[in-house]
Amino acid sequence: MGSGTRILPVVKADAYGIGVERALAVFDRVDPWGYGVATVAEGLELRRLGVTRPVLVLMPAESEAVRDAVERGLTLSVSSLDALEEISQEADAQDRGLAVHVEVDTGMGRAGFDWRRAAEWGPRIAALTTRRVRWEGLYTHFHSADEADSGPTELQRRRFRDTVEALPDADGTERLLHLSNSAGILRRVDLEADLARPGIFLYGGSAGRDLPEPEEVVAVRARILLVREVPAGTTLGYGATYRAARAERWATLGIGYGDGVPRALGNQGSVVVRGRMAPIIGRISMDLTVVDITDLPEVGRGEVVTLIGTDGGARVSLEEFAEHAGTNNYEILTGLGTRLPRIWSSDGHSQE
Ligand SMILES: *Cc1c(COP(=O)(O)O)cnc(C)c1O
Repeated sequence: MGSGTRILPVVKADAYGIGVERALAVFDRVDPWGYGVATVAEGLELRRLGVTRPVLVLMPAESEAVRDAVERGLTLSVSSLDALEEISQEADAQDRGLAVHVEVDTGMGRAGFDWRRAAEWGPRIAALTTRRVRWEGLYTHFHSADEADSGPTELQRRRFRDTVEALPDADGTERLLHLSNSAGILRRVDLEADLARPGIFLYGGSAGRDLPEPEEVVAVRARILLVREVPAGTTLGYGATYRAARAERWATLGIGYGDGVPRALGNQGSVVVRGRMAPIIGRISMDLTVVDITDLPEVGRGEVVTLIGTDGGARVSLEEFAEHAGTNNYEILTGLGTRLPRIWSSDGHSQE
């Protein structure tokens, strides 16, 4: 990021599935400008956890949620004039001030004011924002910053800059500008921005194939509940999609799709045990997954296997795991089930 850029860690979806409360404790040490969430409910949760910094709700808020948002001093993003009017009325009704950040659609298409029509909406927003509803920020979101071709991102950056220039500089107040997600930051797209909004990279997810690798943050592990010796021909799991080709040793793991291991991993990919790979066999059940340990005779009941992460000399990266499942690192992390205990470790000491 540029030297004047402050960080706005995105902690939506329970900090991408890893647990927002502990994530906040870590991020707070770097004195972030504030936090980004997706919904008002998530913002209220942050307030309940004692966050006093700005909390920016990045998705358009539902009308029903505006009241709580104003009451708890959340910062709302705005993508339509109606929504801004509602916010303004609520602020008047409560006689409370709040800040808004205006989202500009430069190609993402899902939310934001159209960058081509800034001359129309700019003055109307300026007229609707007052001392009570303060127009504090302006932002856009990249759709392809993870891809090596920086053309689309550069185009979005230019559209955003054009938008900033087309806006009436209402009362001369400087607005906070922000564009970059993790990939945008790593590509050093806009070093002039006031804020940057990293998510996935903070949680150990790669932000793009050609971008610097994050540190490993998340590992997913399970215990072997049972080891069985089975004769050739033994079938396995729902649909009996796997059949032992020889006398085999199977290990039954206490983890399944109910914990966020995608069903698509049935008969796909491997886990790591004692630094060696053991293939996943049969369909994934809700609570159990079976791996073939025929070639690992020393492995027994009670051992811990690694589905995502490093063990000994072997590793399954979050991205490899996601690829086997036909999805991306974001969906894997946010899909980790509540049944999986989150065990936090720092300085080598694990804590529940
Ligand atoms: C989720 C989100 C981010 C964070 O994106 P990452 O790719 O996880 O870094 C930033 N900005 C907005 C608007 C988002 O919705």
